[in-house]
Amino acid sequence: MLRKSFFTSLFLVLLVSAGLAFTGAQKGEEAFSKLMDGNKRFTSDTLSRKNVGEARRKELTKGQQPYAIVVTCSDSRVSPEIMFDEGLGQLFVIRVAGNVLDPVSLGSVEYAAEHLHSPLLILLGHDHCGAVTAALDTKSKPEGNIVAIVRKIMPAVKKATLKGGTKDDILNNAVRENVSLTQNYMLRKSPVLKHLIDTGELKVVTGVYHLDSGAVEILSAPKAAPESKHAH
Ligand SMILES: [Zn+2]
Repeated sequence: MLRKSFFTSLFLVLLVSAGLAFTGAQKGEEAFSKLMDGNKRFTSDTLSRKNVGEARRKELTKGQQPYAIVVTCSDSRVSPEIMFDEGLGQLFVIRVAGNVLDPVSLGSVEYAAEHLHSPLLILLGHDHCGAVTAALDTKSKPEGNIVAIVRKIMPAVKKATLKGGTKDDILNNAVRENVSLTQNYMLRKSPVLKHLIDTGELKVVTGVYHLDSGAVEILSAPKAAPESKHAH
């Protein structure tokens, strides 16, 4: 009898922890679907009415619960709230030229994931990126603090150059390599985020935003997410 109740308790504990991991993963996938649905509305010119009015602003003075963290480029053509058709308090955005991360910006990501419990992080590069182009241009001599950005992108540029192809191919590949470089930097430098990812509390997705179509092409997505539907 005692043995039976021990196994019953063990079973319940396992069930609860599996349930929690499932809930975390489910939240990440739901957030991902929500984000991509917003991008679909944007690309099909069927934008929703934004929740940005007085009532929403007042509600947000009590706190924020953004469902996704977006790390992307500062480029004026790459605006997360617009491309994902979102209002106030929905996205926690970190923008820096070339979508590179450093300890300060990584701290911002950690804040949103750990303290605001955002279940999804998207690392987003974009085509025609000026920062990646500057890193590719061997003749240009970046000045001032731009050097720090270019230096971060250089390993991606080297990889893409080795792969070869036309000038456009190399730029496009460098943009993609740069996103995975940012992802690797994050995993290496943030035990906090790595833990949240390992426990299923944070899903990480990478992608490239296309200036002409407005579509977000997903490079890697959570399992069972409808990635092929949105990729092009
Ligand atoms: Zn850019």
